[in-house]
Amino acid sequence: MHGKMATMTPLCDWLQTRKARGNKLDMEGSLTARDRVGIQDFVLLDAASETAFLENLKKRFSEDLIYTYIGTLLVSVNPYKELDIYTKKQMDVYMGVNFFELPPHIYALADNAYHTMMMEMNNHFILISGESGAGKTEASKKILQFYAISCPTTSLLHSVRDRMLVSNPVLEAFGNAKTLKNDNSSRFGKYMDIQFDTEGEAVGGHILSYLLEKSRVVHQNHGERNFHIFYQLVEGGEEDLLLSLGLERNCKHYSYLIQGECANVSSINDKNDWKTVRKALSVIEFTESDLESLFGIIACVLHLGNVHFDTDTRGYATLYSNVELRWVSKLLGIHVKVLLEVLTFRKIEAKSEEVLSPFTVDHAIYARDALAKAIYGRTFTWLVNKINESLANQDSTRKTVIGLLDIYGFEVFYVNSFEQFCINYCNEKLQQLFIQLTLKSEQEEYEAEGIEWEPVQFFNNKIICDLVEEKHRGIISVLDEECLRPGDATDLTFLEKLEQKMGGHPHFITHRLADQKTRKTMERGDFRLLHYAGEVTYCVVGFIDKNNDLLYRNIKDVMRQAKNAIVRHCFASTESDSRRRPETVATQFKTSLVKLTEILMAKEAWYVRCLKSNDSKQPGRFDDALVRHQVKYLGLMEHLRVRRAGFAYRRKYELFLQRYKPLCPDTWPHWRGVPSEGVEKLVKHLGYQPDEYKMGRTKIFIRYARTLFATEDAFEICK
Ligand code: ADP
Ligand code: MG
Repeated sequence: MHGKMATMTPLCDWLQTRKARGNKLDMEGSLTARDRVGIQDFVLLDAASETAFLENLKKRFSEDLIYTYIGTLLVSVNPYKELDIYTKKQMDVYMGVNFFELPPHIYALADNAYHTMMMEMNNHFILISGESGAGKTEASKKILQFYAISCPTTSLLHSVRDRMLVSNPVLEAFGNAKTLKNDNSSRFGKYMDIQFDTEGEAVGGHILSYLLEKSRVVHQNHGERNFHIFYQLVEGGEEDLLLSLGLERNCKHYSYLIQGECANVSSINDKNDWKTVRKALSVIEFTESDLESLFGIIACVLHLGNVHFDTDTRGYATLYSNVELRWVSKLLGIHVKVLLEVLTFRKIEAKSEEVLSPFTVDHAIYARDALAKAIYGRTFTWLVNKINESLANQDSTRKTVIGLLDIYGFEVFYVNSFEQFCINYCNEKLQQLFIQLTLKSEQEEYEAEGIEWEPVQFFNNKIICDLVEEKHRGIISVLDEECLRPGDATDLTFLEKLEQKMGGHPHFITHRLADQKTRKTMERGDFRLLHYAGEVTYCVVGFIDKNNDLLYRNIKDVMRQAKNAIVRHCFASTESDSRRRPETVATQFKTSLVKLTEILMAKEAWYVRCLKSNDSKQPGRFDDALVRHQVKYLGLMEHLRVRRAGFAYRRKYELFLQRYKPLCPDTWPHWRGVPSEGVEKLVKHLGYQPDEYKMGRTKIFIRYARTLFATEDAFEICK
């Protein structure tokens, strides 16, 4: 122990040099390198104006420097080209290095979260946000790669890490699709916990998925595709596989694949992707029979799409040709006659008898599509569970986790439907979480700690969250009421109810309620929400149906008898016995988001804010107006203001003292007085300048991260 004390004086000298070096680096950042590469951390920017912010971002972007910090928050601008900054060598460079010592990087953020977790033995999450196509999924993959590749390892557990890595291509094949915004757009939300043992090794994972956009299975807007996996199988599937599934090697042959009229996309190589997915599936240890069932399902959905109906003499639906249905029957393992019956008749229970009521053609198409969506949606859930089994960590010792949240980004299309409504609501919730965890809590904490503070104004989007989700009053409640109302509820009666309840709300307008000028920009069946990220006009057509997501009971009953093991498993729940009406889609989604918020709130947060550089996916193009808009609605300026005026780091006096007391003779080995006084002595001894810290009621607040890093370095040396 005395040995440690003996080093104290030189150590403090060293610490001073380090701090000086840190300052000098900042100086250099602002003098020599400034004109060329801009400033690495917006907190150090002279002027906190939006223009200066954008200029800095643009300058860096033009040098392929896509990352910039606001304190510990990482801003990333999509370069739309491969950059040579994600190599193993780069990972090694960033592993274990202080945050601000190297150029900003996603690895630095990942590493910082990791080291904080190891030091404090607590749980963290990284929230990646930004609109569709901004680079969220890429960012989350890079973080996962960083953990799976560079964290310490005992070779034994290699397999779990490999499986973690390959879970991505599999889930993307089934859950991503080409949209107008992004050729590889995530059509489901994903939260993944990466579990680390006490040695810091990534030893397990768990994925939660959110609301897959099932409607895409049967319908795609112009310029969009179905989920990748369908095209991959048709383009890349081995000859004998296709033969056994009754598939032709021609996407154009399948009606579910060509609604958007763009089966081929230049940026996508379905053939190669199929190989990657096949390999990944074997790494995750799918059995031969799993694979057979799984491929059978993909093919079965394609065949279903080609099942067409004719009208019989009484005006009811009959099968146009039975070739396709035979394949469906073979692949599902359900007799053709049984299938035909559930697709063209509905079973109605009247008193003690069951009556079969025949469908019209429209109705039969509806039943067919509902079945395709249900099979695909449930298979996706099965897939996630299967991956989770393979990522599960068997050992029960205590783990800490880093959660990665990559959820569909804010979306505005020409026509926006129920799916966009859910996606944008989700983004509203995440923005609210961000506000609560950063802007609001930050200011509340200063107040509680009695730290002098200039409040920063910000737009709180809670009002929009409430508009959507409030019990009995929000849009989801109104929608559910209409969905559950027996009788003549339609999308239009839903719209009328909305007008009655929401009319006059500052963030809500409909065609009828709008002034003349606005009315010209809307259709009769539209309502418009003023989201935090901008206006979105939603077309109510399909809202009731999609929210109900009904599948006739006789279809469910039949699916439970399927020989295809996955299908049988997916429909095997007791739900078809239960007479209770299942929760609506929007309400289930709302509940899952509330749960997600709880999961996140219990962890320490890190943020990556992804910005889209341009709307045409062009490398190197920086569209000022587009970026400015995102900077605005993501609240980056407010965040910067709070950061500039605030403190990068805070810690309870007891904890701070406990960790750093060996650095000062007065506090080592014991400090017997009040902890805050001990801390005061300690930081004075370390040479903290008055502007570098403030003493609160229970915590010390440190303004600059570099001060803390210098202290931490000193601690490491003295250990
Ligand atoms: P999001 O998940 O936000 O919708 P993605 O992460 O799928 O967006 O990114 C869309 C596309 O942008 C990617 O397919 C890729 O082509 C490009 N991209 C995104 N991030 C990067 C990056 N860091 N480097 C190179 N290209 C990127
Ligand atoms: Mg994505």
